Amino acid sequence: MQLIDIGANLAHDSFDADRDAVMQRAAQAGVAQMMVTGSSIESARRAIELARAHPGVLFATAGVHPHHAADLTAEALPELEALARDPAVVANGECGLDYFRDFSPRDLQRRAFAWQLEIAGRTGKPVFLHQRDAHDDFIAILREHRAQLAGGVAHCFTAGEKERDAYLELGLAIGITGWINDERRGLHLREVVRGIPPDRLMLESDAPYLLPRDIRPAPKSRRNEPAFLPWVVRAVAAARGEPPEAVATYTTATARAFFKMGTFPIS
Ligand SMILES: [Zn+2]
Repeated sequence: MQLIDIGANLAHDSFDADRDAVMQRAAQAGVAQMMVTGSSIESARRAIELARAHPGVLFATAGVHPHHAADLTAEALPELEALARDPAVVANGECGLDYFRDFSPRDLQRRAFAWQLEIAGRTGKPVFLHQRDAHDDFIAILREHRAQLAGGVAHCFTAGEKERDAYLELGLAIGITGWINDERRGLHLREVVRGIPPDRLMLESDAPYLLPRDIRPAPKSRRNEPAFLPWVVRAVAAARGEPPEAVATYTTATARAFFKMGTFPIS
């Protein structure tokens, strides 16, 4: 199996002590390439550094998560755009709206989201999208900018059929995490995932978050890592009634084509 993890928060400080070992375990588990999520200007910078140190294996995204939307000022936009244009960056984001936590005021979330879609339109790279409990505003803002966008992925999708179909209709891809392994809150996803075409489906760990709940033996640490992505493959395969190898093959092909992951020149 050769897998691509489109959403690993490898710049997170929980990996500071053993990042190389984490990457090694990922490789052993068949995770050939990973996208390191940049969720603030600072973490995007760290994600780019990591990607430069591991060309062809790690790739970065550059964006400001809705939780941090209040920190994104008009003055900071040129800096964010410069990061997004870095050759190590394959997507703008993560960006979007999160009305579940509401860590930033909603009007500032909408402003930061729209700004980042404008940047994405100029960079020509796809968007890495985050949405929680904000579907209507999210779709409305996305629709306004859709014509300028190179495409996007709704990462860590946990919603229902209505949201799935709205995203597919906008030409977006959908990222599935270990949420689907959760026998309580992930049950509905096992139905919803059946309606995603293979060329729109991608997999992600969202490490260090969302440790798949069905890993046996359960890891001592609650920290998730990309090496556990095969558990997500198996859950998706079981839900769709397909062999895990087939899911691995087409999700990898989809991610690779979508984010144009080859090797990139080190600048
Ligand atoms: Zn997210």
